[in-house]
Amino acid sequence: MREELYDVVVIGGGPAGLAAALAARENGAQSVLILERDTEPGGILNQCIHNGFGLHWFKEELTGPEYAGRFIAQLAGGGIDVALDTMALSLDAATHTVCAVSRKDGMRAVRGKAVVLAMGCRERTRGAIGIPGARCAGIFTAGTAQRYVNVEGYMVGRRVLILGSGDIGLIMARRMTLEGAKVLACVEVMPYSGGLARNIAQCLNDFGIPLYLSHTIIDIEGDGRVERAVVAKVDEHRRPIPGTEMTFECDTILLSVGLIPENELTRGAGIELDARTNGAAVYENMETAAPGVFACGNVLHVHDLVDYVTAESRRAGAAAAAYARSERARGGAISLACGDGVSYTVPQRVRVESVEKGVDVFFRVRRVFDGDLRVTARCGGEVLASFRREHLAPGEMERVTLPRVLLDKARGTVTISVEEASV
Ligand SMILES: Cc1cc2nc3c(=O)[nH]c(=O)nc-3n(C[C@H](O)[C@H](O)[C@H](O)COP(=O)(O)OP(=O)(O)OC[C@H]3O[C@@H](n4cnc5c(N)ncnc54)[C@H](O)[C@@H]3O)c2cc1C
Repeated sequence: MREELYDVVVIGGGPAGLAAALAARENGAQSVLILERDTEPGGILNQCIHNGFGLHWFKEELTGPEYAGRFIAQLAGGGIDVALDTMALSLDAATHTVCAVSRKDGMRAVRGKAVVLAMGCRERTRGAIGIPGARCAGIFTAGTAQRYVNVEGYMVGRRVLILGSGDIGLIMARRMTLEGAKVLACVEVMPYSGGLARNIAQCLNDFGIPLYLSHTIIDIEGDGRVERAVVAKVDEHRRPIPGTEMTFECDTILLSVGLIPENELTRGAGIELDARTNGAAVYENMETAAPGVFACGNVLHVHDLVDYVTAESRRAGAAAAAYARSERARGGAISLACGDGVSYTVPQRVRVESVEKGVDVFFRVRRVFDGDLRVTARCGGEVLASFRREHLAPGEMERVTLPRVLLDKARGTVTISVEEASV
């Protein structure tokens, strides 16, 4: 098997991989290779034909393919090879060797001085959440239905019920309506939506589609194809409440019940994962616990806005280029811990000496908070930084920037928490 050497090898050619590759090149990497298993770059954006992308990054409202297209066009600048239809099968984290296969080139071993993981995520399926009822046709994950409708040109159903209020389900509620289907309802087991507030407004409310919070599907009936679904209200332990059943006559159920970062390669390489994000644990520059292996985008943690994927992935690409030049991050690391109300942080560790002005910390909260709120970064009880918020929800990823001057004061672990003003 032939072995090729690159400064930076990027696995995945979605928005994360594209931004990382371009940033690596801009920051001095002489040779960059993107490995993409699909037949074209762009990742999930290629099937997202709705607008709403790029508001932060380009200050414009673009469709998914338009947003990806802006980055794909820059590949023509040279220095970046793109291997399409090429699946990365394994990674050796010590030697940075990626084993990949394609119909055209067969097996190949590519070694990067640095490697960037940008494999995105996949949807949770019916099997993953265990919905009772008949095993009939007509049950799709929302993203699969999106691909059928937007890319392959197949209409997946006429009377649709949506389980889960993640963004893909909300987007598909609108899409199916625009295609002439009747979307009966969106049903969410939690007492709050898992999607962005703007998607609830634009994809459900604008089309009169009801959202049933604290409800779930308790039965699916159908002979061959879905014919109806029974929905019930749930209590605070998510147990169905007898007497609250509603029956929906539908031929299709779309599942929007969560995304799982694609970390089989990462796990196979023995790289430390964070059980809360299901992605690699990373330092301030997106470097994993394996030196010279970086991670960004949805493979690291599930993002709601692609603009943040781009910003994070540029950081990973620039750091990978620096690593390829033998520049190593400096200093011992402090840990970022989750305090009250916070479910995860990315990064999980910060090498303060390597931070220039400040470090962006992404996090999600455990429940909905409203009122006079403070997001605090505390070390040993002392408040290092405090950020005001009026509303926080699990469906919306949050970001705060911790300035270097404040991090210099930290000794040990910094805990990020949500604090509510006492009344
Ligand atoms: C339905 C939907 C609607 C969305 N709507 C919006 C919106 O309105 N606005 C917004 O800002 N954001 C939106 N997003 C979010 C945004 O699209 C994602 O955050 C973004 O696409 C993540 O980029 P990524 O590169 O990490 O992952 P992806 O786009 O999933 O790209 C990962 C790439 O890696 C490739 N890959 C995986 N494993 C391998 C392997 N082993 N070898 C080779 N290649 C591999 C995949 O083929 C894929 O091309 C939406 C997302 C979805 C799913």
